Amino acid sequence: MKIIMLGAPGAGKGTQAKQIAGKYRIPHISTGDIFRANIKEGTELGAKAKTYMDQGLLVPDELTVALVTDRIVKDDCKDGFVLDGFPRTIAQAETLDRALADMGQKMDYAIDVDVPDENIINRMGGRRACLNCGATYHIVNVPTKQEGICDACGSPVVLRDDDKPETVKKRLSVYHEQTQPLIDYYKEQGILKTVDGTLPMEDVFAGIVRILGD
Ligand code: AMP
Repeated sequence: MKIIMLGAPGAGKGTQAKQIAGKYRIPHISTGDIFRANIKEGTELGAKAKTYMDQGLLVPDELTVALVTDRIVKDDCKDGFVLDGFPRTIAQAETLDRALADMGQKMDYAIDVDVPDENIINRMGGRRACLNCGATYHIVNVPTKQEGICDACGSPVVLRDDDKPETVKKRLSVYHEQTQPLIDYYKEQGILKTVDGTLPMEDVFAGIVRILGD
């Protein structure tokens, strides 16, 4: 099962993607996580990506596309995968489709986690992320057990630079300009499914399972 998660930044697509990966036993491939891991490791890719991420801009395709096209040919992707944060532009979607076509494959589902902008702005201010292991929380909806400390690894959790209010506004406008057109792109392919991302997380996931099957 090959799945793309669509949705604005902060719509909760990462949380849903992780649950999908767990239930259907397929790899979760997040370009944002790959960039953040590179930033943490101090790689050249990380340094380049960070300059764009901190401004709320998309990382250029030449630094992004190969990360995914090289990843989906790996052995653990043969039964499928869930893409989270990729594609983010029509050009990326077309490259992905071509890479899959070369393998005689195609995407099965594009799931749009739909959340209005007002909700996104409120949510992102409360988001906290562990810079060590990447786990994400929300001060109200998904709090850490101990305030400010990651449940998974015990490191401090922080408001990511790219979740700060000005950057969030920029990321939303980039989303509307560059990523939202993918909704029509996948609608035309007949694989678009929409879930209401304003519902509690468990209900969003239940809706996704109804689409993907048990
Ligand atoms: P995310 O964690 O998916 O919200 O990604 C965080 C940031 O990483 C984005 O705001 C972009 O700057 C960058 N990024 C992640 N995925 C992509 C992509 N597919 N294309 C371009 N930039 C990306």
